[in-house]
Amino acid sequence: MKKRGLLLVISGPSGAGKGTICKALLDKNEFWLSVSATTRQPRQGEIHGKNYYFISRDEFLEKIENDDFLEYAEVYGNFYGTPKSNVIQMLENGKDVILEIDIQGALKVKEVFPEGVFIFILPPSMDELKKRIIKRGSETPESLMTRFKSAYKEINYVSKYSYAVVNDTVEDAVKKIESIVIAERCRVDRMKDTILNSKEELIHEQLYD
Ligand code: 5GP
Repeated sequence: MKKRGLLLVISGPSGAGKGTICKALLDKNEFWLSVSATTRQPRQGEIHGKNYYFISRDEFLEKIENDDFLEYAEVYGNFYGTPKSNVIQMLENGKDVILEIDIQGALKVKEVFPEGVFIFILPPSMDELKKRIIKRGSETPESLMTRFKSAYKEINYVSKYSYAVVNDTVEDAVKKIESIVIAERCRVDRMKDTILNSKEELIHEQLYD
């Protein structure tokens, strides 16, 4: 039987550096990044099908109706959702899947997929988080303020996650996540089949060899 892939849920407040970390993880590892659907407008340089599936509100609502999302959430006035079928298929094919999603979405995934690996990305400090949100330069003053305020609140949700990774440097954060993945693959509850098979082989050897 094929081993199921791991579902890595990388989450945390806006500006913590989730996107950069995920990109660096993908450069070095054989993970599959799920592309979300969103009703927000594309930013400069963003490509449909690569960064997001940019769809209308009506299309999004239809997908909710058809139960096409593993989770979805409204973030800063726009809808974001994880298309379900690809994620399930990739996991069944043994691929490790990354979801880079907000905290509301991560908590919903945890309800339906408790065996996922839930990683909270923390900024090195709130000052640094502010600087990073401003540096992005893509926000209006109002949306900047909304993002700061919700980031302060969102940090409290770290206790719902299994792992917290401080994003001091991208290199270190990636190393920590790679170590988490190695440890998760060694968990006894994920290795039942392997352990059972080796136990059977051992018994067989003792009886017949
Ligand atoms: P942005 O508009 O900056 O690309 O993303 C805003 C927030 O939405 C980020 O925190 C991002 O992680 C989150 N996000 C992106 N895709 C999804 C998704 O499919 N589901 C949920 N719940 N959040 C998402």
